[in-house]
Amino acid sequence: MSLADLVRPHIRNLAPYEPGKPMEELERELGIRESIKLASNENPLGPSPRAVEAMRNAAGEIHRYPDGACFALRAALSARLGVAEDQLVFGCGGDEILELVAKTLLGPGDEVVHAWPSFAMYPIVIQGMGARSVAVPLDADFVHDLDAMAAAITDRTRIVMLCNPNNPTGTSFGARAFDRFVGALPDDVVLVVDEAYFEFNRRDDFPDVLALTASRPGTLVLRTFSKIHGLAGIRIGYGVCDPGLASYLERARHPFNVNRMAEVAALAALDDRDHVRRTLENNELGVEYLSSELGRMGIETWPTDANFILARTGPDVFDALLAKGVIVRPMTGFGLAEYVRISIGLPEENERLIKSLAEIRAAGGEA
Ligand SMILES: *Cc1c(COP(=O)(O)O)cnc(C)c1O
Repeated sequence: MSLADLVRPHIRNLAPYEPGKPMEELERELGIRESIKLASNENPLGPSPRAVEAMRNAAGEIHRYPDGACFALRAALSARLGVAEDQLVFGCGGDEILELVAKTLLGPGDEVVHAWPSFAMYPIVIQGMGARSVAVPLDADFVHDLDAMAAAITDRTRIVMLCNPNNPTGTSFGARAFDRFVGALPDDVVLVVDEAYFEFNRRDDFPDVLALTASRPGTLVLRTFSKIHGLAGIRIGYGVCDPGLASYLERARHPFNVNRMAEVAALAALDDRDHVRRTLENNELGVEYLSSELGRMGIETWPTDANFILARTGPDVFDALLAKGVIVRPMTGFGLAEYVRISIGLPEENERLIKSLAEIRAAGGEA
């Protein structure tokens, strides 16, 4: 008997997540230095300096287990968000919250409706439980087609996962479309709204899903410290839901799933309004610069409410950029071979990307 026969079929058939290429790896492969990475929607300003300071101060305590209840962070976050403390569940990144939801609610035969292209982790956590991922195509503008998603719900649907703003397109949907969708959603379907990029959104009519968590049981909002606060490497995210659902997710999680460094870093970052403000300013400038420069080059982009932008550069541009030490995210895995997702960088990084695209084009490449 081979090992593959021992592995459960739904795990054997999983296609692993493809992360953005690390800079160290590219530099090793090409023998170059000073590559730039605009591939994983990380914060180009770096982490909150207050978070770094807090971690330094806590380093001498890492022989102790962390506070499994995240007491201090829970209190601060509940005050900040205006939700009850027992509505919060913390995870080793927002990714773990997705996994906890899947582990708590899904088994073989169950279905989860989500959009596509959307966050690549959804099918992984769903199929990881032996459940079925029902991927509903985005509309022609790359926006969630909420009517089509509502139509895809069956008796077997346990969860609907929405991503707003959507990764990898940056597009978002507003309160009107969302309210209509929720109005028609059966009570026994759990609604997960992934708001990993919430803080970057610029629309006035952004749906208030946090408020809905108090009135609709089985509604969960996912947020993370990875993006706006620049803490992707320390791994902390959270879910906000009704206390009932939270109590089940609490049973499903490991007792020390959030590490001691992550707890102090997140707490400090939450108060670092200056870092958040600078992050938003840099992002706003970068979005404007990249949309206008790409537009000038005749490269189509989509309106973004996040810290990245989807661009139709033409085929082979991902590799051509790599050769120039510029890492973006290929969209081939979504069947969008002509597209790349570009994370907003520092002004000089954004300029280098545009310059590199211009060189590729001048050399006869597609960009
Ligand atoms: C980044 C991201 C997350 C969570 O990331 P973590 O680093 O695990 O907190 C969740 N959803 C989407 C859409 C993301 O892009």
